[in-house]
Amino acid sequence: MHGLALEVPTDSTAQYATTPSFAKRSPSRPHLAILNLWTPAHIGTAGNELADAAAKEATTLLPHPSTFVSLTTTRRLVHLQVLSEWEAAWKRSKTGRALRQIDKSPPSLNPIPLYSSLTVARKTSSIISQLRTGPSHLHASRFKSGFIASSACDACGAAYETRAHFLLECPSWEPLRRPLHSVAKDAGLFGPLHVSPLLCEPKLLRAIAGFVEATGRFS
Ligand SMILES: [Zn+2]
Repeated sequence: MHGLALEVPTDSTAQYATTPSFAKRSPSRPHLAILNLWTPAHIGTAGNELADAAAKEATTLLPHPSTFVSLTTTRRLVHLQVLSEWEAAWKRSKTGRALRQIDKSPPSLNPIPLYSSLTVARKTSSIISQLRTGPSHLHASRFKSGFIASSACDACGAAYETRAHFLLECPSWEPLRRPLHSVAKDAGLFGPLHVSPLLCEPKLLRAIAGFVEATGRFS
């Protein structure tokens, strides 16, 4: 056993410093010589480099499918994913241009109360919905679709009975717009009326429904 050398490969300078004192504390084995070698880290060692790369990659991985995720979190993630895909499809879509002009936000999972309101008649809700999305019984829309020969407004003779003409401009309906101005002001909308808030602002829903019904234009 005399002359037996034990080599302890290590890159720890701390261990290198403490090992000689260990040897001193073991006088009962004087035949055991401990040779402590210090080596500079593992850089350049192929296996170590692969292990380092794998460890770094692991920190970027998504949780394992078997990891517990609450139902609430799952619902929220699915909700966000659906909205994201919906918004992208909405922006790519060639249809819905008339609605995008007045409502920049994508369709919502929580629609404005237009479609669920109990205070607006179903027929009126349907008319407002048509005005929002574009195709309607207004003459400019019907003329564009080829259903009628003229786009002119029967009420005032203007060349195009567009939704802006019907809602904002037609002089025949001007007296009926007074409630709209009043409700818009109460909702914090000052200045001239615009198509977008008239058709998209929930606070104006009942007022615009009243205007549509009062004109009798869609009767
Ligand atoms: Zn008119």
